[in-house]
Amino acid sequence: MVESVLKERVASIATGRGRKTLGCSGKAAGIECEKPSVSGAVSQRACVFCGARVVLNPITDAFHIIHGPIGCASYTWDIRGSLTSKGELYRNSYSTDLGELDIVFGGEKRLAAAIEQAVEREHPKVVFVYATCIVGVIGDDVEAVCRDAEQRFGIRVIPVMAPGFSGTKSQGYRLAGEAIMRLIRPHYTPDAEPLAAVNFLGDFNLAGETWIVRRYLEQLGVPSLTSITGDSHYDSLIRAPRAALNLVQCAGSMVALARQMQEEFHIPFQRVSFYGIEDTSNSLIETARHFGPEATRRAREFVEEETARLWPLVETYRERLAGKCAAIYVGGGFKAISLIRQFAELGVGVGMVGTQTGQPEDYEIIRDIVGPETVVLDDANPAELEKFMREQHVDILVGGVKERPLAYKLGVAFCDHNHERKHPLAGFIGVENFAREIADSLLSPVWRLL
Ligand code: SF4
Repeated sequence: MVESVLKERVASIATGRGRKTLGCSGKAAGIECEKPSVSGAVSQRACVFCGARVVLNPITDAFHIIHGPIGCASYTWDIRGSLTSKGELYRNSYSTDLGELDIVFGGEKRLAAAIEQAVEREHPKVVFVYATCIVGVIGDDVEAVCRDAEQRFGIRVIPVMAPGFSGTKSQGYRLAGEAIMRLIRPHYTPDAEPLAAVNFLGDFNLAGETWIVRRYLEQLGVPSLTSITGDSHYDSLIRAPRAALNLVQCAGSMVALARQMQEEFHIPFQRVSFYGIEDTSNSLIETARHFGPEATRRAREFVEEETARLWPLVETYRERLAGKCAAIYVGGGFKAISLIRQFAELGVGVGMVGTQTGQPEDYEIIRDIVGPETVVLDDANPAELEKFMREQHVDILVGGVKERPLAYKLGVAFCDHNHERKHPLAGFIGVENFAREIADSLLSPVWRLL
């Protein structure tokens, strides 16, 4: 099974509950992850800058300046699909457009002028400046330029030192978390009582999903101060240090920030996922428990109602999808885990599952909830995805924009569970949408003609 896999990649590929690393038969080794990609393996992973930008970009009234060549600014521009309740500023991509002369003589003046122009034209309360690969090479003092701009204009100008080559996409997530801490730290008042409210971390309001979850929480009597970062804005973010609890959905991007907030602001955090009936129900009940018996009662009632409404629908899809097999390749571990459970709800097996930035504890859970026949892999490349999808005879791939062409080339159905989705897949409404999309795509007659 592993003959055609690069030998440096073998330790990052394993099977399910059998807990045998491929090629290391008999060893109960953990899967190798959170490591730089293997050179030449053409990883599906995005770069450090991308990791930082996709986390910060949904802050709707922030001004995002990409300090680097224009190509970096187009990479991941507006791909989040994050919806906004006010303001569209974040959907633009601003660049200092560094050219050869800047690379020889330095780009600091150009950056200072770009910030000045942004402040004069748009009057933002916060500007994020992303340093990309070439800035890491030429060594512009981006920190100093941002510091000067803060003093000069009296707004927050926060550098995000994210040259693409300086680590993995996870490093970008950490940098985004640090940038958020720089933004909110000055607004922490140690003596202030926490408010009976949550922050919702690691949801980016794709197709309005943050709104759905926040509505559910309000139904339980649990308000949210802000989300980080879907449909957030400066004024909501600076309230974050007052929350009683942080809910962390996308753990890969937000656990570091949640830990930091726990350490500095004493806000406990709880991991949640609002994908699928099981995870949505458990997350609502666990969150409500934190806010007392009344909230818990409401959560139980709400979950029972929604589950009773949804199961008959799920049953019809189970009949239609019986015997089908899925492959999953997504950004973070939490989503992969929820998707495995969602496919189990629909009676669909999982032949392959992998992530770009999964953590060791994610892979432990994944390997415990899939069977020994399932291939589990970290930081895959297209050749591996193709190989295992063929070997496992999968009927559908769930992934993002980079995986879509691969599925179609193999004549396999595809479900977009990333930035480009246009309808919500979170919450109970998401259960309906997900089941419908999987069935529509997977059972389409077109696959029989290929
Ligand atoms: S930061 Fe580097 S790796 Fe990322 S898009 Fe720009 S040039 Fe490419």
